[in-house]
Amino acid sequence: MALIVQKYGGTSVGNPERIKNVARRVAAAQAAGDQIVVVVSAMSGETNRLIALAKEVQANPDPRELDVIVSTGEQVTIGLLCMALLEMGVKARSYTGGQVRILTDNSFTKARILKIDEDRMRRDLESGHVVVVAGFQGVDDAGNITTLGRGGSDTTGVALAAALRADECQIYTDVDGVYTTDPRIVPEARKLDRITFEEMLEMASLGSKVLQIRSVEFAGKYKVRLRVLSSFQEGGEGTLITFEDDIKMEQPIISGIAFNRDEAKLTVLGVPDRPGIAYQILGPVAEANIDVDMIIQNVSHDGTTDFSFTVNRNEFDRATKILEDVKAHVGAREIRGDRSMAKVSVVGVGMRSHVGIASKMFRTLAEEGINIQMISTSEIKISVAIDEKYLELAVRVLHKAFELDQVGA
Ligand code: ASP
Ligand code: MG
Repeated sequence: MALIVQKYGGTSVGNPERIKNVARRVAAAQAAGDQIVVVVSAMSGETNRLIALAKEVQANPDPRELDVIVSTGEQVTIGLLCMALLEMGVKARSYTGGQVRILTDNSFTKARILKIDEDRMRRDLESGHVVVVAGFQGVDDAGNITTLGRGGSDTTGVALAAALRADECQIYTDVDGVYTTDPRIVPEARKLDRITFEEMLEMASLGSKVLQIRSVEFAGKYKVRLRVLSSFQEGGEGTLITFEDDIKMEQPIISGIAFNRDEAKLTVLGVPDRPGIAYQILGPVAEANIDVDMIIQNVSHDGTTDFSFTVNRNEFDRATKILEDVKAHVGAREIRGDRSMAKVSVVGVGMRSHVGIASKMFRTLAEEGINIQMISTSEIKISVAIDEKYLELAVRVLHKAFELDQVGA
């Protein structure tokens, strides 16, 4: 007998019919002999509705009270799902985060899980119940309701799986797995059967919004076997997110092409080239809590150099303002900005043991006349910043060049 945690997202429980459909899946899994813990999100659109409602009363909602409000979305779905299961003759019990006792810190709206009391869930499972838990929420040690940040039900699912040492955590969503790239851009994109945690983190942070990033980190840390599947499809295997050692034999060199549209570039021209200059430029940017991604400092000539970096596009104006101050301070010549940048990355653990991936990437882009403005690399990823208008073309040609459209590539 296996212990499985199944997490269903907002679209999967978006209306009563869909909730009954989830109940049928849960019942079938239990009938197949497994113990099942279910985590659910709020019905689709509900969390947004509750946030908007709060803002009608208080433009800048008090975080503690906001958590009291938004946590109700999930409380409705756990009750409805249990009713659907009871109607089918399946023993089921629902619990809010606080009832389980998912203990978190007290940072309202973005709390972190500290400890999970699993006794109650275990007792219910032993007596043949399906346990249904509200995602996205917990309670701090003073008894206040907390929430885990948008998309946080994924993290609840993984955390429960870790606490219960479950055999697998299955994340049911409206796509049938993780793809080699976005199928809306490349129709030939393929579903991956397996991907490593590290690759998934690179793919997720670059815009493949299948899973909350924190849940993937959590699963990697606590060695939870994680699988992404569709709740609208029968019998698919989805994508298993796993450890490198498990898939070495069949590991492709490149697993996917990730991208991010919303980048902007800032350049400080004619900065005096002396120790501490990078800190003088980026220190104030970091203090303003702006994430810097790629960074380039050019070779200096005549004692001055140019310094460029990228930020998320919606931080562009703030970053520009900060640089204007920095310019006067360090005696730079000029600030230039470009707010229509995009980042494209090839991702794969296989590149650790292969040479020539970067040159293949650069040649492919060159053949299309796409100018690379910045480059950054990690052990399992090569990223380039390009003009946003070439993004889709770049993704398409790279997907083809690395033969990601071919099975077993
Ligand atoms: N309902 C929450 C949200 O919309 C949590 C989740 O669905 O994972 O962000
Ligand atoms: Mg989600």
